[in-house]
Amino acid sequence: MTKPLIVGSATARAGEKVSGFIDVPGNELEATRIPVTIVAGNADGPVLALIAGIHGSEPSPIVALQRLRTELDPSTLIGTVILVLIANVPSFTHRTIYRGPWDQQNLNRVFPGNPNGTASERIAYAITTQVIDQCQCLIDMHSGDGNESLRPYSYWNALGLDEGVDTRARELALAFGLDHIVIDRGRPRDAGASVFCSNTAHVRGKPAVTTEAGAVGVPTDDMVELNVRGAMRVMRHLHMIPGTVETMESPVWIEPSEVLTSPETGLWYPAVAADQHVAEGALLGTLTDYFGETIAEVRSPLAGVVLYIVVSPAMGKGEPVGMVGVPASAANLQGPRP
Ligand SMILES: [Zn+2]
Repeated sequence: MTKPLIVGSATARAGEKVSGFIDVPGNELEATRIPVTIVAGNADGPVLALIAGIHGSEPSPIVALQRLRTELDPSTLIGTVILVLIANVPSFTHRTIYRGPWDQQNLNRVFPGNPNGTASERIAYAITTQVIDQCQCLIDMHSGDGNESLRPYSYWNALGLDEGVDTRARELALAFGLDHIVIDRGRPRDAGASVFCSNTAHVRGKPAVTTEAGAVGVPTDDMVELNVRGAMRVMRHLHMIPGTVETMESPVWIEPSEVLTSPETGLWYPAVAADQHVAEGALLGTLTDYFGETIAEVRSPLAGVVLYIVVSPAMGKGEPVGMVGVPASAANLQGPRP
């Protein structure tokens, strides 16, 4: 690494591990700082960005990046790792699900962001310009949100802009090692309206993966470790750290998949658990009004596996209640094969 890498207030030269903050300007309420660590290896290699906490109530990846910050050793690292320890500090601190506390926007729907926009748009802009623009590949690490039970899976973005980038993103997903991979062909291709964090990297020619491991706002040790192990496997795949390269040999590819939303506002009572297999038409849960009278039910439009399900009662009309995906066979794969 010939010249230092600068992310926010952190400047790292070869062989250094440096932490700092990306300042996100705003008024007294909305101004925030994104904690980052740069681990710069002694030898040149890829720049990998690992991002946690785009949604603040998804702590398993957040705790995992704290562990990685301790474990990564710049003296044996090839290339550079940028750790974004908590992307959405307002959501984390105020314990919000899905949306930021100030603007009620979902940070993972406003990329590439806007320096003069809402609080969430300014955070997205800071991550796009300081992290995504400086990395070569990216893992955006999520879990079930504070209200969601989830079985681990990742998304393969089959964007269709650049076959080489799509292929490398697929390899990253296989390297991370979650055994269910949702094939996603619907992401926007416009760099100016890339919407999602990982897609913002992908449309810029940088392979990226979104991972989901952990649930219900609790960083259990097994889920934290699954995130740590996935990140280490990606680093071995990229030959950044020593060790045997592992790849998922026969993952369960998921296509199609569908996020189901609530037809009413009220109280949600799930009828299924994460990882349960359901038939087409199976009851996923019921809604009651505030008096406890049943007002609606949600049924699965697909026969498949429950990837996540909301397990707490508060429910608004149009909010997600869960996601069902179909384990893909040759017959139902919709586009180029994975
Ligand atoms: Zn999330």
